[in-house]
Amino acid sequence: MQEFLNKLPELAKDKQNENKKFFSKLKNKPPKNLDYIMQDLHDREFERTDCLECANCCKTTGPLFTDKDIDRISKHFKMKPQQFIETYLRIDEDNDFVLQSVPCTFLGADNYCSIYEVRPKACREFPHTDRKKFQQISNLTMKNVAICPAAFNIVEAMKERIK
Ligand code: SF4
Ligand code: SF4
Repeated sequence: MQEFLNKLPELAKDKQNENKKFFSKLKNKPPKNLDYIMQDLHDREFERTDCLECANCCKTTGPLFTDKDIDRISKHFKMKPQQFIETYLRIDEDNDFVLQSVPCTFLGADNYCSIYEVRPKACREFPHTDRKKFQQISNLTMKNVAICPAAFNIVEAMKERIK
């Protein structure tokens, strides 16, 4: 896995133009069964990808924290939301709450998330490859293929499946 992760930014860069063309076509004319195709490709990929061997999203990017996330996680720590914000978060250039630093503070050395049950919604949904109307998040996906090996493989499989 580590070898693949090391090569991933370069691999994603090589595919950038091809992916741009593919997603622009997909946006204009998404197949009627795109939601079904994505669920299938997502399930197949995550049958063979073990996030515990990877954790690259937790190590390199980190999620946005919504107000609901902050309420839920601060309650878990028996902290006041404001205290949680001051301890762990900052506001980014888009005015969203994000982690003060990466790798994520809540990631263990064994790649387990110490707040898994209450983790942010963005962590639960990453890399968003099973979401409905996948064509609407192509810009985000083009960034994610450089971080997430599963997203990279799913996009490669999409290009094979949707000609
Ligand atoms: S909260 Fe958990 S799942 Fe989310 S980035 Fe941190 S370690 Fe990863
Ligand atoms: S979601 Fe992607 S980047 Fe995150 S741990 Fe799983 S395979 Fe790795």
